[in-house]
Parts: sequence; C-alpha cells; structure tokens
Amino acid sequence: MESSPVTHAANPTNLVIAIDGPSGSGKSSVSKAVARALGAAYLDTGAMYRAITYSVLDAGTDLSDAAAIATAVREAKLEISVDPDHEHVVIGDTVVTDAIREPRISEQVSAVATNLEARAELVRRQREIIATNVRIVAEGRDITTVVAPDANARILLTASEEARLRRRGIQLGGTQDASALASQVLERDKKDSTVVNFTQAADGVITVDSSDLDFEQTINAVLDAINTAAKK
Ligand code: C5P
Repeated sequence: MESSPVTHAANPTNLVIAIDGPSGSGKSSVSKAVARALGAAYLDTGAMYRAITYSVLDAGTDLSDAAAIATAVREAKLEISVDPDHEHVVIGDTVVTDAIREPRISEQVSAVATNLEARAELVRRQREIIATNVRIVAEGRDITTVVAPDANARILLTASEEARLRRRGIQLGGTQDASALASQVLERDKKDSTVVNFTQAADGVITVDSSDLDFEQTINAVLDAINTAAKK
C-alpha cells in the first residue's frame, strides 16, 4: 500500500529537514551535526538500504532475483536508531551497525536500491519514522523528492568528484586503492542514478556545494540554507 508523503508544514512545532546528495558529499556527518544543532533526531536512510543488503547477502539470496529481494524487504525486521550521537542498526536479530559499512556492502547495495518494490517499502518505513519524530533531519538520495517533499527545508549537498573521492578515501582509512575507491563511489552513484535523481536540485530544493568548504563551513552553509527556507 502506498502511503502519502509526510506533511508537517501545518504544525509549526514539527520540523523536517530533508538532505540528499551523492556518496562522499559529506551528507551523513553534516546531517548529524545539523541535527545536533537543531536538537533534532537523525535518520540515515542509506543505512536501511545497507542493512537489507547485508541480510540478503547473509541469506545467500541471488541479488539478481528482484522478487526475492522485494519479499526480503517486506518481511525484514529492521530497527534503526535516530540519535545523531548513537548509531544502532539491527536486522532480524543481528546488530549490523559496523558491518553495513564494509566495502562489500557498498559494492552491492545498488541491487537493493534499484529494486522499485524494495524502494517503495523502505520509503514507507522512512515516512513512518519521520512522522513519529517531532524534529528530524533525514538524509539520503530521494528524501527531498520522494520521501519528504513537504519538508520544512530541502537541501541538495553536492561536491566535486575530486572532493568526494578524497573524502571517501579518508573515511575508509586509506584502505582502498584509487580504482576500488572510484568504483565504490562513482559506479555506485551511476547505478543509483538510474532510479533517483540526486545530482540536480528539484524545484524548491537549495543546493549547497561543499567542494571548497571545510566541515564547519559546510554545517553553517546548511544551517543558513535551512534559515532561508524557513523564511519563505
Ligand atoms: O548514504 P549511503 O552511501 O550509506 O547509501 C547507501 C546506498 O543506499 C546508496 O548507494 C543508494 O544505493 C542507497 N540509497 C538510496 N536511497 C536513499 C538512501 C540510500 O537508494 N534515500
């Protein structure tokens, strides 16, 4: 069953901030910091796609079997924390908070993300989480356009390819060579782009380009964008 988008505009005490961007744009760390600054919860929707990927791999499901992936998502017992200071992800009875960050998950997550039935179910769960939190920053690839198009502020966080590769390389502790890194970041974005557009801002979405900004400057630029959106 398709649920309708979350509408919070009518209630001024509710605050929903939607942030999208490609991998390596810094959106997770920036979104967490923004959530802290706003006293809001934080939803990492990518972690949900990653957790499902972990479980289908664990179950030995053929990743090219779209129907099996869709069924796995519908039946998944998936728990995700919304505390920006404490990440906790559980699928079934397994805590996967760290395991979902492994390169093997990053390399295969697009198989889940490009499955339209799987997306519909995860979008439904994401809207539910957003609706149960009074103030929340939600980040991903389709939050500004599909999950919460009525959010109080919608931001596309971008960065040049060079900046994104550099940041992801540092995040992975320099464990990946240049081609593995490029494949993880750029190939994944290319596959993901076949189902969602997170490279161009939709109408009403404010673009923040972090290529030449440090972490603090990016947080401030996003907070400024939120203020600008609130005045409209
Ligand atoms: O943000 P992160 O890199 O952890 O996301 C992992 C993957 O989850 C993305 O590469 C994409 O395939 C998928 N994703 C998505 N839609 C979202 C969030 C993540 O398709 N809203």
